[in-house]
Amino acid sequence: MGRRSAHALQSRPQRVCVLGATGSVGASTLDVIGLHPGKYEVFALSGYSRLAALEKLCVRHRPQYVVIPRAEDQESFQRRLVEAGLDTMVLAGADSLDFVASHQDVDTVVAAIVGSAGLSSTLSAVRAGKKILLANKEALVMSGALFMQLVRESGATIMPIDSEHNAIFQCLPFRPHDGLSAVGVRRIILTASGGPLRNTPAQLLREVTVEQACAHPTWSMGRKISVDSATLMNKGLELIEACWLFNAAPSKVEVVIHPQSVVHSLVDYVDGSMLAHLGNPDMRVPISHALAWPQRIESGVATLDLLKVARLDFESPDEDRFPCLRLAREAATAGGSAPAILNAANEVAVQAFLSGHVAFTQIADIVDCTLQHVAEVRVRTLEQVIEADAVARREATRWLKAIS
Ligand code: NAD
Ligand code: MG
Repeated sequence: MGRRSAHALQSRPQRVCVLGATGSVGASTLDVIGLHPGKYEVFALSGYSRLAALEKLCVRHRPQYVVIPRAEDQESFQRRLVEAGLDTMVLAGADSLDFVASHQDVDTVVAAIVGSAGLSSTLSAVRAGKKILLANKEALVMSGALFMQLVRESGATIMPIDSEHNAIFQCLPFRPHDGLSAVGVRRIILTASGGPLRNTPAQLLREVTVEQACAHPTWSMGRKISVDSATLMNKGLELIEACWLFNAAPSKVEVVIHPQSVVHSLVDYVDGSMLAHLGNPDMRVPISHALAWPQRIESGVATLDLLKVARLDFESPDEDRFPCLRLAREAATAGGSAPAILNAANEVAVQAFLSGHVAFTQIADIVDCTLQHVAEVRVRTLEQVIEADAVARREATRWLKAIS
């Protein structure tokens, strides 16, 4: 970037596109943006359900575009925005997510759609070389090699806002493209709260209700990631996410349970130094860091009260009670399409659990059966990723029907 354009970027607000604005990460992002009106400007918002909430966000942030899912709602939504005095243009459908994510006037894209539905728009932002605040870990898990290749080709900047990965990013000296050993890293340690079922005995896990699985003790999040946290699949997806973001072999990424959720992750160096990132468990911390990096801005989050925290506990994860973590590690090691298969089977199984069709423990069973029956293949193109996802969904649905 030339000096003139760099100066222009500094002197005008960063234009931000928030995909998944009506969700939990979307709300935290818009809270932070709202604290810094001169620095950030909302260029586009998207939502999938809860259109009334999306309308309120438009009134509050006055974006140039808003993307809704269905063309049949476009006219009435547009009319309501005009009546509210806005000149926001309403677009509809998944292609419109790609359009706003890659729009030439956008500086930063917040990828906060949940699951594989976020893949295409996240990759559009990557191809367009944007600065991307990545929450949508499923997109990276599905398409890892292709995703990172596109990042290298386009020069996109990936800022992790998953709290663990943001913590690791902050504990590394710089982005270790040459591999972690080149910067003296022995291993990465991902912390996990253990979720709401950390102390639930194995024989009671089968009976766990949706409400119990979603009652996260330290984080308030969307339902899919809440169930993933309860099964520890979230940590499994994060292990794969860490391998791609930090160019690490799966064997270099460890998971420890840390129930207080104030140490967000750690980096262990060869000289015996271990760096950790601490803070209150609130997504506005990593979001603020990633938005302003390499500068720092207020996030609206209180400083961590160490005396109130008083103690930090760490324990090993129990992979017998929570086999999803083991399944994810195996998929990371197998490589190719295995992570995409794991992710697709998990999305099918979690949806079935949330709809009351399968028991909590059957989520891992469905993922396991799918991984055993769908052979992993090399994936080089987006079409191959989408094909792996579709094949795994069909197989997972077959197991789901057999089980339920
Ligand atoms: P959420 O369910 O609260 O929000 C999801 C957003 O995606 C909503 O705006 C919804 O309208 C949109 N969406 C859902 N289905 C869609 C579809 N088919 N097409 C387009 N948009 C769709 O979820 P969340 O908790 O905000 O999580 C979002 C992502 O961030 C997930 O990938 C999650 O793993 C990741 N993440 C979340 C947290 C957290 O604290 N919530 C932390 C780290 C990472
Ligand atoms: Mg996380």
